[in-house]
Amino acid sequence: CAHIKVGIVGYGNLGKGVVSAINQCPDIDLVGIFTRRSPESIQIQESKAKVIHISQAAEYSNEIDVMILCGGSATDLPHQGPEFAQMFNTVDSYDTHAKIPEYFKSVDEAAQRSGKISIISVGWDPGLFSINRLMAEAILPNGENYTFWGKGVSQGHSDAVRRIEGVEDAVQYTVPIEDAVEKVRSGENPELSTAQKHLRICYVVVKEGYNKLEIEEKIKTMPNYFAEYDTEVNFISSEELKQYHSRLPHGGFVIRGGTTGIDSKQVIEFSLNLDSNPEFTSSVLVAYARAAYRLNKEGQTGAKSVFDIAPAYLSPKSAEDLRKGLL
Ligand code: NAP
Repeated sequence: CAHIKVGIVGYGNLGKGVVSAINQCPDIDLVGIFTRRSPESIQIQESKAKVIHISQAAEYSNEIDVMILCGGSATDLPHQGPEFAQMFNTVDSYDTHAKIPEYFKSVDEAAQRSGKISIISVGWDPGLFSINRLMAEAILPNGENYTFWGKGVSQGHSDAVRRIEGVEDAVQYTVPIEDAVEKVRSGENPELSTAQKHLRICYVVVKEGYNKLEIEEKIKTMPNYFAEYDTEVNFISSEELKQYHSRLPHGGFVIRGGTTGIDSKQVIEFSLNLDSNPEFTSSVLVAYARAAYRLNKEGQTGAKSVFDIAPAYLSPKSAEDLRKGLL
């Protein structure tokens, strides 16, 4: 069957991850990478795809089946999402949970008008974790959902530490508390706040002449970020930070404990253990690009979330092969 022609908008961590993910998909071709920066300034590894200025994207509306939007959730996607939905089928990883309803609405209006489909908030959380929360809740209505994140790098918390005076560089890991995970796994359904479920571990490089104890105190008492958590601060050299903490691992667990019958405990668990958060998120985006292409061919339009997409649309295999091999 015909190959799916894909474009990438934005060449950051996710954009790079999409290039590698497409290289593992024989049914998908990369047409071009669209950027706001000068295209000549960008070197693409792992692909011969063209780099094109974003202002020329509209000229490619007949050549590209699906645009994968790899911009940031804070300031890029709120405008890039609806803009691109006016011209292309799109997939994005918008992850500001509290604002998903309004983002959905603005993308939906654009995609309804253009007759395209836009699958929003694809990735692992939101994304695969959301699907697992939904399934577990539908199957075990009498129960409790728990999400643990980590061990993983939190970009927001790392930035917050870097903004402290005297800090040269820093990485912050969010780590699930083992005791809390075990309690949840046992089906006890304990009451736990986010802080009771997670520990924060910081690796910090300090500029010369600054007091480490004072910096540690500033981190541990920072409201909204660290104050309500157990926080561990480790001081290391910039060489150590580069050598041991420059990857972006992540993952976590979605667990639901519920009861059925008179008192049968039932526990559902889904977990991810990721060496590279962006490469994994990009792989999810590419699978959903396949779904966007097929669903739009069938006449579906407007914004969708992962809840609306049947799993068979993600796979390059035929329905018959799926029934034979995986059912
Ligand atoms: P990023 O690396 O900061 O890239 C964001 C944008 O910044 C790129 O599209 C790129 O646009 C621009 N950019 C990248 N490198 C640049 C550089 N050196 N100089 C100037 N501009 C640069 O962000 P990311 O790690 O790819 O993450 C994107 C979003 O994915 C995050 O905001 C997060 O919300 C989301 N995410 C979601 C999930 C999930 O599970 N749903 C998981 C992980 C991440 P241009 O090419 O146009 O300049």
